[in-house]
Amino acid sequence: MCGVRFMAETVKMLSPEKRVFLSNKDAGCPMADQLDVELLQSLKEHNPDHTVVAYINTTAELKTLCDVCVTSSSAVKIIKNIENDKILFVPDCNLGAWVEKQVPEKTFKFTHGGCPTHLRMSKRNVAKAKREHPDALLLVHPECLAEVSNEADYIGSTTGIMNFAKQSDHKEFIIGTENSVLQHLQYECPDKKFYPLSKDCVCHNMKLTTLNDVYQCVKNLAGEEITLDEEIRVKALNSINEMIRLGGN
Ligand code: SF4
Repeated sequence: MCGVRFMAETVKMLSPEKRVFLSNKDAGCPMADQLDVELLQSLKEHNPDHTVVAYINTTAELKTLCDVCVTSSSAVKIIKNIENDKILFVPDCNLGAWVEKQVPEKTFKFTHGGCPTHLRMSKRNVAKAKREHPDALLLVHPECLAEVSNEADYIGSTTGIMNFAKQSDHKEFIIGTENSVLQHLQYECPDKKFYPLSKDCVCHNMKLTTLNDVYQCVKNLAGEEITLDEEIRVKALNSINEMIRLGGN
């Protein structure tokens, strides 16, 4: 795995019989570590009638306390498919608030978490980018603050943003998500122009892994093999299996 730790843990949950390696052992997601198990346990005790929905960017340990995981592209569909109308959404309150708007028939409670990379973007960035690129559409990720999302022409997951830009007749876009997406878009759509909403929207954790790390890991000289306590793996896997079940057709 050349991403961050929670991704490697999820792979291990789903494939316990395989050896899974994180090529740079320091590559973590700050959001995944924001909420600890004791706090979520206490929130569950205070809200026993709520279904706990976790953004997939959470640790394996935290997933053991969650009923279902979601990704940014599946969250709305999955939450609509949950029978219970009371949702405790963790840890990203911005993603949660965006889902809430699209599922008004349910009531939500949130914790105050979020992606530090996306939280760097503000409405001042929006005003500046629109001033500099008046013909561009603004496409943002739902991890952004509401003050940013409210100004957007499109809000969606990374895949959603990429598909929107590729299929649109528009020629210019301001991109409000991790800036490596711009490089992918520019490569795939050389006839269009892409501008970062903020030059600071760079996730240093996702950029930590180098080609040399991968080489060293493959040679068994570095990296970390992911191991999960079997009880934790099985309990955490429930939330992933629920995500797959509720996200199906
Ligand atoms: S951009 Fe970085 S900090 Fe934000 S959710 Fe992704 S991995 Fe975590």
